Amino acid sequence: MKNVLVLGAGQLARMMDLAGTPLNLNIKAFDVRTDQVVHPLANEHSYGDLQTGIDACDVITAEFEHISHDVLAKCEASGKLLPSSEAIKIGGDRRLEKALLESCKVANAKHVIIESRDDFDNALNTLALPIIFKSALEGYDGKGQWRLKDIAQADAIWQDMQQFVEQANTSVKQGIVAEQMVPFDREISIVGARSRTGEIAVYPITENHHTNGVLSVSIAVNVDPSLQQQALEVFTKLTEKLDYVGVLAIEFFQVGQQLLVNEIAPRVHNSGHWTQQGTDCCQFENHLRAIVGLPLGNTELIRPTAMVNILGEDSVPEQVLAIPGVAMHWYNKQKRAGRKMGHINICAASERQLAEKLQQIAGLLDQQAYPDLQQFADKLEHRLA
Ligand code: AMP
Repeated sequence: MKNVLVLGAGQLARMMDLAGTPLNLNIKAFDVRTDQVVHPLANEHSYGDLQTGIDACDVITAEFEHISHDVLAKCEASGKLLPSSEAIKIGGDRRLEKALLESCKVANAKHVIIESRDDFDNALNTLALPIIFKSALEGYDGKGQWRLKDIAQADAIWQDMQQFVEQANTSVKQGIVAEQMVPFDREISIVGARSRTGEIAVYPITENHHTNGVLSVSIAVNVDPSLQQQALEVFTKLTEKLDYVGVLAIEFFQVGQQLLVNEIAPRVHNSGHWTQQGTDCCQFENHLRAIVGLPLGNTELIRPTAMVNILGEDSVPEQVLAIPGVAMHWYNKQKRAGRKMGHINICAASERQLAEKLQQIAGLLDQQAYPDLQQFADKLEHRLA
């Protein structure tokens, strides 16, 4: 029995617990909102404060990257934190992320770091329109991103951004990264694990669809080997540079046959939830295996699988569960507009059958709650025709 403390007590810690229990791993979660250690499935009971949790565990990991640096420093000092605080901080600050990509010579969108009006003007001069401006640290309530399509909007955007940066209540100074908008063909991601001994196992790349900036559908089907190879090379470069241990996700823009990194997440990732049914060893289990020093599990796709996020809804029609190959994953959260409440994994014997099942599910779900699902199902069917 090994004891693992997860920083964060949301759905990712919950799914780590569900995957770790059969391995005889004892998972606790540190809830950053209450500063208490809790059980990931039943957070009413407290097991004490952070220091108590650190002392009681063998390994500490994180389910999100926006963790206060004080907490990270305390965990790192114990010698139990995996991945390292450096990797977690990079995932939480786009400036550090861009510096890592540049130092590894990994292709990404042309960008400028903005700290002053001069930098802003420099961005306007060096990047072609449209430009996307992103807050370096976490935004909130959908704030923290601006798109400049027409130069006439530049002053208004600058003022809004300046106000946003000044009002930020963050321990590290908030900033802005300006990025050239990439005319991508699609968005994909790779999720993989690196062990304590440097062994790497990646899942097949996944195609991702976003609705209003939030992941709505991921689909894992047979992949183009050259894209998979490119993604694996980037994964290897970045994780080796960081001497990374655990699961890491990389989101890419695909432009023709080229992959440009959009962002990295030093943790299990929403675009890897399909692995719970589409592989022998899901991302949550592989993350735990990596950090506690067990061999990594098989990451091969065993059947075409899709994942549909449930956003802002606390029920779905029961007929969805009657479709063979459908698995529900609820997070036991209070309903709130747009909130990630759960997901549906859909497995099929073939890509064609997967497209048919997605059509069936799109027909059962409320179109307003899943606005792009029908369109996505149609597109997939069309592609296979
Ligand atoms: P992000 O928060 O960086 O993941 O951005 C949210 C979404 O905005 C992405 O999933 C893309 O759809 C879009 N986006 C972000 N950056 C760019 C870019 N440089 N070019 C085109 N689309 C982008």
